[in-house]
Amino acid sequence: MFSYRILKKSKKSSARTGMIKTPHGTINTPQFMPVGTVGAVKAVHPEELKKIGAEIVLANTYHLYLRPGDRTVKKLGKLHKFMNWHQPILTDSGGYQVFSLSYNGLKRGVAQGEIKPAKITNRGVEFFSHLDGSKHFIGPRESINIQENLGADIIMAFDHCPSTDSNKQEVERALNRTNQWLGQCFKAKTARNQLLAPICQGGIFQDLRSQSISHIIKYKSPVYAIGGVSVGESKEKIYQISKFCADNLPQESARYAMGIGYPEDIVKLISFGMDLFDCVLPTRLARHGVAWVRCEKGRGIELEDISYNYEQIDLAKRKYSSSSEPLDDECDCNFCRNFSKAYLHHLVREKEILGIRILSIHNLRFIFQLIEKIKKNIEKF
Ligand SMILES: [Zn+2]
Repeated sequence: MFSYRILKKSKKSSARTGMIKTPHGTINTPQFMPVGTVGAVKAVHPEELKKIGAEIVLANTYHLYLRPGDRTVKKLGKLHKFMNWHQPILTDSGGYQVFSLSYNGLKRGVAQGEIKPAKITNRGVEFFSHLDGSKHFIGPRESINIQENLGADIIMAFDHCPSTDSNKQEVERALNRTNQWLGQCFKAKTARNQLLAPICQGGIFQDLRSQSISHIIKYKSPVYAIGGVSVGESKEKIYQISKFCADNLPQESARYAMGIGYPEDIVKLISFGMDLFDCVLPTRLARHGVAWVRCEKGRGIELEDISYNYEQIDLAKRKYSSSSEPLDDECDCNFCRNFSKAYLHHLVREKEILGIRILSIHNLRFIFQLIEKIKKNIEKF
């Protein structure tokens, strides 16, 4: 029911094109997954997602478990039907959010006095909802159970992703726990039409990454994820660890670099042999009035014979208030091309929903267009 096959390997780098087969269709890799946190890619209709090139979307287990509840989603025909998205879906395990959001809730003062930091034991994590401070528990068994109720094609192992400021001993402890939980996840899994993908952890420590890889490859999965590489480290570290993981994971499986979203990072990691990406960045930036556009000088995108620059522009800035130029001359998203920067500036200033929609679609298309170029390039060499 699930498989990964390499179609073409680049002769110039470790980049490759391939196909991941799932019950809801094929994912052509490299591929980017727009994030639909609560079961919707914010401001973008599923038909629009298809039109701009999305083949798979990611939904968050933590959020859907809290609201509307995984049992409700199951009753309503599971995620594909609930979201009216009939192509592949991936759900994360909730592992990352039970730590980060419990803490964010604490920082933001949501339900003050009730929210405490998440408590972790070998059985799982006790945490407090960022919505109302209510107490919950998710461990490997609970995470798989929730993900089975949600019904995505690819589900993720419940892992402990330590924060960036953790020392080696803490990272090692989190890794041992993640390894232990992986076995429990596979034991808890009952659905045959879902692929459970193991996650490599180990922070910035190569020996721990190596230990993690030796452990997860025992499960012979067509997809392995690399977690904990984009949680605040320098780009240099992200590249170094990603390259190490890509070099050491089995060639015949797809590699999913979790949470990587800047165009230049995606390109770099594709050149190391990563195949799947997800990030909230394109849509989150859009909601802040920020767009990715091609330009003469700026952030460099380089891979094989692809070379261009782009910049992140903040449309709220006064300098765009009278600009009759289009957002990006070379964009083919068809959603942005007939609007001037001045009009988009106006929409952003007025907090008009249309502005967020146009920029969200445009930023996502920016990534898809880039990935399509890369695929053509890999096939050429
Ligand atoms: Zn566009």
